[in-house]
Amino acid sequence: MRIAFIGLGAMGRPMATHLLAQGFDLRVNDANTDLADTFGDAWASSPAEAARGAAVVVTMLPNGHIVRDVILGSGGVADALGEGGIVVDTSSSDAGGTVALGEALKEHGISLIDAPVSGGVPLAAEGKLTLMVGGTDEAAFATAQPLLEALSGKLMRVGGLGAGHAAKAINNAIAAAIFAVTSEGVDMGARFGLDPAALLEVINASSGRSGISEGLFPSQVLPGKFALGFGLPLMAKDVALADKLRDELGLKLPMIEATHRQMQAALAALGQQADFTDYFRFNEQAANAG
Ligand code: NAD
Repeated sequence: MRIAFIGLGAMGRPMATHLLAQGFDLRVNDANTDLADTFGDAWASSPAEAARGAAVVVTMLPNGHIVRDVILGSGGVADALGEGGIVVDTSSSDAGGTVALGEALKEHGISLIDAPVSGGVPLAAEGKLTLMVGGTDEAAFATAQPLLEALSGKLMRVGGLGAGHAAKAINNAIAAAIFAVTSEGVDMGARFGLDPAALLEVINASSGRSGISEGLFPSQVLPGKFALGFGLPLMAKDVALADKLRDELGLKLPMIEATHRQMQAALAALGQQADFTDYFRFNEQAANAG
């Protein structure tokens, strides 16, 4: 079974490399043609060229607009893939946009599965990502299953088309909110005179603990690394997607709304190259200004 893999950035590159090492028949493409040498014979000159003769097209692109553009745009991926083809979008895309893309692809006889991932670059390289999978086309899922399982340490089917993308956005909005409030607490403690390491030890032995306080704070924030490898723009995008979903559902959710505002403010202050963990530094500066 031939697979096309489009989007070879921080995540897509180790995912595609892992699939090649597992023996999958892969053709890959990225807008960054510097990657052609890295992938040698597997490189295709365009997304449509990668999709020609493939049974499944995997996308790992920055957002759902780009996914739609690549699949349905003038490049002709949908036509090259053809009837009976399957698109698996592993990007963190907009749930509503995914439902719309699924409808549009139906007219081409193509099935869409959303399978966003959690776990970051190290787990991508090991094929141990957590996958949250949306879509109810059982035949398409059965075809894509070996590929999805090769990428994941844990695969969860969470509902209809778009459910994976909704779950991913909600999870990341929660993670961003926890990171933001932990930043506030650790900074406030330091200003009172508490040693941040001692405060974290208390938090991690008490009810304020989280994956963030147990993982990211000791590994990234305390040593001043701020190099998780998950960009602030991507986290800000995910929180924006969660806030958009909230709005579409007509809900008032003050914590999600505030987290969205905070991530946008941090992005405006720190710029496109910032790491998500740089939010801690933004928070310190913002607290000083207050
Ligand atoms: P990235 O910016 O490193 O990579 C995106 C790649 O897409 C780049 O190589 C870029 O050249 C390519 N690209 C952009 N437009 C293209 C086009 N029109 N045609 C072909 N290629 C194109 O991003 P990333 O960190 O790999 O993230 C990809 C997706 O995965 C995002 O949706 C992100 O939110 C999600 N994600 C990232 C992480 C992480 O830790 N980085 C973790 C989980 C999920």
